[in-house]
This record gives sequence, C-alpha cells and structure tokens, in this order.
Amino acid sequence: MAQTWKRLGIMGGTFDPIHYGHLVAAEGARHAFQLEKVIFIPAGRPPHKTGRKITDPHHRWIMTELAVASNPYFDTSSIEVERPGYSYTIDTVREVRNLYPGAEIFFITGADAVLEILNWKNVNELLEMCWFIAATRPGYPLGNLKRRLAGIDPEHVKRIIPMEVPALAISSTEIRARVREGRPIKYLLPEPVEAYILNRGLYK
Ligand code: ATP
Ligand code: MG
Repeated sequence: MAQTWKRLGIMGGTFDPIHYGHLVAAEGARHAFQLEKVIFIPAGRPPHKTGRKITDPHHRWIMTELAVASNPYFDTSSIEVERPGYSYTIDTVREVRNLYPGAEIFFITGADAVLEILNWKNVNELLEMCWFIAATRPGYPLGNLKRRLAGIDPEHVKRIIPMEVPALAISSTEIRARVREGRPIKYLLPEPVEAYILNRGLYK
C-alpha cells in the first residue's frame, strides 16, 4: 500500500557510484522544502551517458541502498532499473505520480544537470508535473541558468528553484579515477559504499 506523501523529493542520477555530493544535495532539499521523503532513483540506462560503459545497475542500486540506509527520510526505488530502454525522467515522474497521487513532486538535480534541462525529453510537460531544485555545484555557475532557459515559457522557468548547498567538488568520475589509480576515496562517500566498491573490485 503506497504512502500518501504530500511533498515528495526525487533524487535521480547514475550513482556510479553514489557519493556525498548527492547526499548533501538531497538532504539540503529535504530540509529547505520540507519534503517528507526523498526517493533516490538510480538510472537504468541513462540516455546522455553513452560514451562509457556504465556499471551494472544491480551494483549501482545496492550502493544507493547502502548510502541512504542511515537516513529515515531517504528511500530508494528500482523503477528506472527495471524499466526497459533508456531512462527518461519524464517516464519516472509519470510513474511516481501514479504511485503517489496528489503528492507535490520536487525533482532534485545539481547545477550541471539543470543547465542541460532543455535537452531533456518533454521538458515542458516535465515542468508542468514537478518542481526542479537545482543544487549549486562547483564548476557549474547557476548564474547562466536564466540565459540558458531564455526559450521556454516563463511559467515553466518559475518551476526551477536554485538552492545553495555546501560546495563539494566530488564527482563519480573522480571517484572512479581514484579507484583505478589506487588513490583514496575515503571521506568522499559513505563507508559502506566504499567497502562495497573495494570488496567487489569495482572501477579497477
Ligand atoms: P559522473 O561524474 O559520472 O557524471 P556525478 O558525480 O555527476 O557522476 P551523477 O549520478 O551524474 O553524479 O549525478 C546525479 C545528480 O546529482 C545530478 O543532478 C548531479 O548534478 C548531482 N550532483 C552530483 N554531484 C554533485 C555535487 N558534488 N554537488 C551537487 N550536485 C551533485
Ligand atoms: Mg554527472
């Protein structure tokens, strides 16, 4: 039986692997927007990351589970991992709306992702269905957002809300490179995730 959340956050990502940048953005959004729950949804097949081999969704989903376990407001969902084909946010938001009718949905992204939003599938429909929270991220100035969104309906632009979070210059790309090169990843991600990566020999 689905819960009846009124204000629901979705944290989407490839999470290859999940790290403190993701967790700090999600927790910041939860607090700032009084979200009752934030659901982390690892992408099954991200359409924009076709250049390199993405880690098996099963591993990414387990790491996400391990990362959110200590936060009672956080949860995970495997809906994107289970859906065949590319993972489009529009399909995910539609599915979440069906699962939690009446919930106001807040989709949490980092600045880099939101700056690319015009390339997302059915962006106008998406902005009618949910709010976007754009967390600051080092290297991706949100000041460019207004200019970037010049072509879209001002009512839709209002649906994108910038949010200041403590700057963490952490990326999954950097973590994968560190593992490959034998450099430490400790303190960049939760310890159970670090242990999982090392035990399974991921990113070698
Ligand atoms: P990769 O380097 O593989 O692209 P990533 O660190 O960017 O990985 P993603 O899974 O691509 O992580 O990102 C998921 C979401 O989290 C995106 O909306 C992204 O902007 C946001 N995000 C990731 N890292 C940070 C960070 N350090 N600060 C704020 N937001 C972040
Ligand atoms: Mg990324």
